[in-house]
Amino acid sequence: MHPWSLIEQVSIMTRIIVITSGKGGVGKTTVTANLGMALAKMGRQVALVDADFNLRNLDLLLGLEKRIVYGAFDFLAGECRLEQALVKDKRQDGLVLLPVSQKRSQGTVTPEQMKSLLDTLAPKYEYVLIDSPAGIEMGFQNAIAAATEALIITTPEIPSIRDADRTIKLLEAQGVERLHLIINRVRPLMARVFNLMSIQDVQELLDIPLIGVIPEDESVIVSTNHGEPLVLAENQSTSAIALNNIASRLEGKTVEFLDLDSPYDDLLEADETIDPTTSFANLCPYF
Ligand code: ADP
Ligand code: MG
Repeated sequence: MHPWSLIEQVSIMTRIIVITSGKGGVGKTTVTANLGMALAKMGRQVALVDADFNLRNLDLLLGLEKRIVYGAFDFLAGECRLEQALVKDKRQDGLVLLPVSQKRSQGTVTPEQMKSLLDTLAPKYEYVLIDSPAGIEMGFQNAIAAATEALIITTPEIPSIRDADRTIKLLEAQGVERLHLIINRVRPLMARVFNLMSIQDVQELLDIPLIGVIPEDESVIVSTNHGEPLVLAENQSTSAIALNNIASRLEGKTVEFLDLDSPYDDLLEADETIDPTTSFANLCPYF
């Protein structure tokens, strides 16, 4: 057998990762858009799938909403080929979005349909990231149907943690084995002053490996409104660095987390002149 035919037979191993949480508004879409962009910047072939069929915000965060013609609904209805439904990002080669649809405002999709859609999509990409809706109903079942990995997003607040816990149990019951935790909207100074949940507390409660911690950061809101993912910015904000680090960890690189019980414990007493708005990176070493 000619060696080239061997190479052709080795298909790309696609990682199908669902980004989920249980609770709404905790940063799933933000993380999906930025991780997709960060991985594409690292040279990976990435498809982002908007599985939040009702809210469908992923196109907005990526600034691709004006370029949508077809979407997943049209493909599933047999009205277009999958390639026609994909929107290629012009800033980053290797990144495509599968939106919901521009024309169809409603439709029902089953987990089996999602599985077959992803079977068609996945072979051409190294990563497929699926933006999941809030809740644990049908939309969630669709989003996780084909996933082999999950990133569970929570904020350090009790309702969000409880929903994340439920989601983790459901994912485990469904046989999704590789689960990682992302803690978003972390405000270390506030947590310290008001004795709120620490990163360690959250991780111990949820008991799955931590892959990233993203600080509360106004630049996230700015980027959302400009349709320009944070990780594209020339001057990287702390949250952009955090998101890039998550992408590196997904790639298997070791990007160290600093120790929670390190000298930062007595930070407030140690230096009263610290301005939390300018010294955030010093206060939150977990990026
Ligand atoms: P979800 O997809 O889970 O509903 P989104 O990604 O849409 O959540 O985020 C909800 C809101 O929170 C958005 O307005 C977004 O800009 C904001 N947000 C998300 N993460 C952060 C953060 N780290 N700092 C500040 N705002 C954030
Ligand atoms: Mg969302």
